[in-house]
Amino acid sequence: MSDAVLDPAGTLPDVVDLLRGRRLAVLTGAGVSTDSGIPDYRGPDSPPRTPMTFQQFTGDERFRRHYWARNHVGWRHVGRTQPNAGHRALAEMEHAGTVLGVITQNVDLLHEAAGSRNVIDLHGRYDRVVCLNCHRVIPRTELAQRLEDLNPHFADEVADVEIAPDADAVVERTSHFVVAGCAVCGGMLKPDIVYFGETVPRERVERAYAMVDDGDALLVAGSSLQVQSGLRFVRHAAQTGKPVVIVNRGTTRGDRHATVTLHAGTSETLTTLAATL
Ligand SMILES: [Zn+2]
Repeated sequence: MSDAVLDPAGTLPDVVDLLRGRRLAVLTGAGVSTDSGIPDYRGPDSPPRTPMTFQQFTGDERFRRHYWARNHVGWRHVGRTQPNAGHRALAEMEHAGTVLGVITQNVDLLHEAAGSRNVIDLHGRYDRVVCLNCHRVIPRTELAQRLEDLNPHFADEVADVEIAPDADAVVERTSHFVVAGCAVCGGMLKPDIVYFGETVPRERVERAYAMVDDGDALLVAGSSLQVQSGLRFVRHAAQTGKPVVIVNRGTTRGDRHATVTLHAGTSETLTTLAATL
């Protein structure tokens, strides 16, 4: 990479020229799901929000009860969301052989819903729950039934929920909510989602690096790359001499590693790429 490139800001034709004829590894973030109605708390127009940490979740029983009460209401809303044109364009490009696969920081499974087959859910998935003691993983639907039995009518009593990337919903009255433990060992259950303060499992990281290595270029879509777990793949691609294109509405922490950046929405940009490449 030339270090003479100071401002990688480009246009859509620049992106097309750079990516044409190359097989792409794709890294996606919250920005690809905003058009599906899932808010991006890190986007340029987002309200400030302090993300929950793993330490808060495990260390504070009151916090955990509040969290599960909100999650109990909110997680179903994620399941009702639909993939948008950006998700569909990536699936189309995978079927056409242009896209090798998708590494996503989202836990909403909308890439899978759109038909993408080779997806690495870097930060986990909202539809699974893990026991922190015995590490057994169960479907979220199984826990939903148990929480429903422990807290009859709770979900019905709560209106005006807000959908969030981790299936949170804003609920005030949670102090009487009963949390469930692991059915096998009684251990603490946690959504199978990587929170702040946790690391992505090594095996998953290695698969993601391999996908980047297999590609001729890395396309980042809808991520501000604020966390290291995604940024490292951008740095890796740049260090191994691969073109990096970042499509995001705002600036990102990866911009200095990018060959071209495009400040644009992902739905329309990915749709154009699918039609052009
Ligand atoms: Zn267990």
